[in-house]
Amino acid sequence: MPSDPENFSSSDTGESPRDGVALGSLSTTSVYSPRLVEHAVHPRNQGSMEHPDAVGTARFERCGDRMRLEFRLSEGRVQEVRCQAFGCGAAVAAGSAATELLAGRTLGEARALTAFELDEALGGVPAPKRHAFLMVLQCVAEALGPRIPQNSIPGGIHA
Ligand SMILES: [Zn+2]
Repeated sequence: MPSDPENFSSSDTGESPRDGVALGSLSTTSVYSPRLVEHAVHPRNQGSMEHPDAVGTARFERCGDRMRLEFRLSEGRVQEVRCQAFGCGAAVAAGSAATELLAGRTLGEARALTAFELDEALGGVPAPKRHAFLMVLQCVAEALGPRIPQNSIPGGIHA
């Protein structure tokens, strides 16, 4: 099982980000941004909490990614989020960014988290690594609401 957040190459895919004609307003970068690398190397809010109020998990088998988000909820808001992510650097970074983006939101606002927000928070994520967004959204949906369809990721998953 690959578990190498310091391997920032995207050699696990033959997909070229250049042909991403349907990317919407997501970034068109093909490299890991400094912000993404920073989140991958120093992920925020890692680990687990005692008796979380909600838990969501996701897997992406292509690069052996696993993600688990734990939520502390009260008064209709997300008070705290903890992340455990294993696999590619983008997965670790997206989980880290999600903990910061989701803390303090109402449940409705948390459910409304988008790939665009994650992309922006990470300074752009190469198309072959956008499955990291899908995993975050799946974790949020499992924990807080209905399942997110795969086609909710603009430009597709590319893997
Ligand atoms: Zn991955």
